[in-house]
Amino acid sequence: MNDSADMFGDTPPEDERDDTQPSAEELEEAGQSALFEPEALPWKQDDEPAKAAPEPVPAKEPEQDMTAPERALTAPESDTAVAVSEVAQPYRVLARKYRPQTFSELIGQDAMVRTLANAIERDRLAHAFLMTGVRGVGKTSTARLIAKALNCIGPDGQGGPTIDPCGKCEPCIAIAEGRHIDVIEMDAASHTGVDDVREIIEAVRYAAVSARYKIYIIDEVHMLSRNAFNALLKTLEEPPAHVKFLFATTEVDKLPVTVLSRTQRFDLRRIPTPMLQQHFASICRQERVEAEDEALAMVAAAAEGSVRDGLSILDQAIAHADLNEGGTVTAERVRDMLGLSDKTAQRALFGAVLEGDAKALLDAIARQYSLGVEPLALLRGAMDLTHKITVAQVGGSAEDAPTLEERQAIEEWAGRLSAAQLHRLWQLLLKGYDEVRQAPDPLVATQMALLRVMHASNMPDPGQLARTLQDMATNGIAVAPAPSGDAVASGAPSATAPVAVQAPPVHWQDLVDQVEHSGQLRAWQMMRDWVRVISLKSGELIFTLAPGMPDDPTGLLREALFQATGERWQVERGEGEGSPSLREVKEAEKAAEERKIREAPLVMAAFEAFPGAQLVDESDTLKSDTKWSRSA
Ligand SMILES: [Zn+2]
Repeated sequence: MNDSADMFGDTPPEDERDDTQPSAEELEEAGQSALFEPEALPWKQDDEPAKAAPEPVPAKEPEQDMTAPERALTAPESDTAVAVSEVAQPYRVLARKYRPQTFSELIGQDAMVRTLANAIERDRLAHAFLMTGVRGVGKTSTARLIAKALNCIGPDGQGGPTIDPCGKCEPCIAIAEGRHIDVIEMDAASHTGVDDVREIIEAVRYAAVSARYKIYIIDEVHMLSRNAFNALLKTLEEPPAHVKFLFATTEVDKLPVTVLSRTQRFDLRRIPTPMLQQHFASICRQERVEAEDEALAMVAAAAEGSVRDGLSILDQAIAHADLNEGGTVTAERVRDMLGLSDKTAQRALFGAVLEGDAKALLDAIARQYSLGVEPLALLRGAMDLTHKITVAQVGGSAEDAPTLEERQAIEEWAGRLSAAQLHRLWQLLLKGYDEVRQAPDPLVATQMALLRVMHASNMPDPGQLARTLQDMATNGIAVAPAPSGDAVASGAPSATAPVAVQAPPVHWQDLVDQVEHSGQLRAWQMMRDWVRVISLKSGELIFTLAPGMPDDPTGLLREALFQATGERWQVERGEGEGSPSLREVKEAEKAAEERKIREAPLVMAAFEAFPGAQLVDESDTLKSDTKWSRSA
């Protein structure tokens, strides 16, 4: 390789060239495999575009109304290299071997590719691009593709920038191999200093040696020091026409606004699990490896949106399969590898929880544990099912369920469980998950947590429970003394309520009643709900207002008291806290009562079982409604 291309010395050269020249035998074999596997193959290993395929590919036609880049994304690719990997050659990890060489091979980033295609077509390319996204979504791959797209000269040496780089011309090949003299890659993680950047800035002044554009790819650009950014800024403001910057970062928030504003930003999406699964399936076909759908679904789920992570897992799975199962990647093996729980076993466990079968539940846990499944994964599996059932219930599809059995089970549960039950299950499982994570013995914690979920799912729902408690209270098996309506009406602090607030003087309640009886309901409501009495004596009321009342009721009150009592009142707003309003007293009493009820052993058990449950006292709501509205 050419050392000068790698000015920072640590960019590993891409070793891609060995796939580009398939032999006649390989071509033939590939052609055959294309006939037998018409769906395989959007992922070839050389750079040959679809239109140059040496043989017709019997695959689906692209839709008529697609735009060019869309077509590029869906077009069946040439298959000449399918079997190339069979030739004896040093093993390369999948992530590297299947690094996308064209935009059509880049999965899950359609929006970005479309934008880029438009920019190229209209010759409106930015000076600097920023690729953001989580690790492994293809930021550096994209950067290299853009470098190719900008510098490709086509097989005949006459082409211009294109969204569909040919992969055959010298620039394309050199860039794929990481040895193009004008495409400089730098890892900002290890070159954070201003000197590193200065080196670039110096070099920027000189024209590209052989390519159309001099391209700087700076990975993890957020790692650059502030000085380095500042040094870079001037160049970014007015870069020479022959220079392009391609930045990649996982942490876009750490970039200075000045840099963000000078770059065209592409947010690379996390790749959806079903798409990853498809991708991995196609790679397995190319690798001539049998893989169960469920196995690939597990790999895809574990990849969490990252192609690279998924491919490393797949690498391992294939290695395992070679040793044991005659080359087939089985769900069982992947499960072992990832410490995941079997979907069937997961459903059995979930079923045991819902049926309230404690023995079956403990058996299921023990069986999974002995198979090496992490206890935490059991709760995660149950949560995953709960989520899928909930989604299915609101009309979402259970599409990412890998098997028909799972889809059926999910749909059946979706029909049987109520939305409230599902939300309760979720809360309980989430709580259990946290406990298990912190527990010194995760297995024991898992047993306890799942048993609790099971018992709770057999309990009456919280509304029913509250009614039962109310009955108990009125029938004398009191968990808390029932509040006496008279105590509230007379304004005396309730004996049962350890409230910090003090009720206003007794005759305030009388005065309020008088205003009510005089039919001045607006004033009455104001006095009841908002007025906090600071001092009250015959003919004089000094008050303040509970927070949240914007109007000044002084005039209203003065008039109302005159009407109600036949006396002139001095009514003033004063400084200070005042006694809580009658409504506030009532609410405080209710809260205290609720606290009492909550402290009763049975209720505590209920709240333990239903975290986040609310105490709703229906009869009390009724009572207070009738009281407050009796003359309204
Ligand atoms: Zn090219």
